[in-house]
Amino acid sequence: MRKNIVAGNWKMNNDLAQTEGLLTDLQKQTQTSEAEVMVAPSFTNLWHAFQSLRTSNIEVVAQNMHFADNGAYTGEVSASMLKSVGIQTVILGHSERRAYFNETDAILAKKVDAALANTMRVIFCFGEELEDRKANKEEAVVKSQISNALFHLEADAFKNIVLAYEPVWAIGTGETATPEQAQDMHAFIRKTLSEKYGEEVANSVSILYGGSVKPNNAKEIFSKPDVDGGLIGGASLKAQDFFEIVNAF
Ligand code: 13P
Repeated sequence: MRKNIVAGNWKMNNDLAQTEGLLTDLQKQTQTSEAEVMVAPSFTNLWHAFQSLRTSNIEVVAQNMHFADNGAYTGEVSASMLKSVGIQTVILGHSERRAYFNETDAILAKKVDAALANTMRVIFCFGEELEDRKANKEEAVVKSQISNALFHLEADAFKNIVLAYEPVWAIGTGETATPEQAQDMHAFIRKTLSEKYGEEVANSVSILYGGSVKPNNAKEIFSKPDVDGGLIGGASLKAQDFFEIVNAF
């Protein structure tokens, strides 16, 4: 059985004091679902968040990392640095990284390799832009993003990979993909995985949906058979909203 996962991507929000406030609020919430829960604070707050959520069920994950293990890469953070502060999972390939920081499929393939080589788990993000969807190219775009960054891997590596389909037009816009659009794409992603690695691998990989998931639409999206959870931006910044989404399973 694949896992249901709800991960909060805090993006570049929350200084230390705000992070402390949100961590305290998160620990007051009650989880009624069995989903795995993760939050991704910024680098500066990872250690603090890891310490304060240590005894909770909430995993602290990173939003990004570099592919090199160390060296002259000013401003960057490596997998081994993340691991040294307790982080086991990293989000890679977010559309904001691709759009604003020129992360290409080739760079992402190297980052995925580095994370796996450091026995980390990867939440690999991808998704089409609005023009792609208007031109009916969404499946081709998604297939190329996945295959370019992941299809050099052995089947076994997928034990440590979670996929996150985030259509760019739905991120931060309030315009969610309909549950049917999400399901159609998730089924396509699973078929793409199956063609390359076989059904067993395809059925074991959790595929999350991201893009304007809110307390009022999470249940319907999560009810779709190929949607195994969500990557939540804006609504993860309020503990109560986030847990309403966590408990929507
Ligand atoms: P929103 O939930 O704010 O649309 O952001 C989604 C996202 O980018 C999560 O990584």
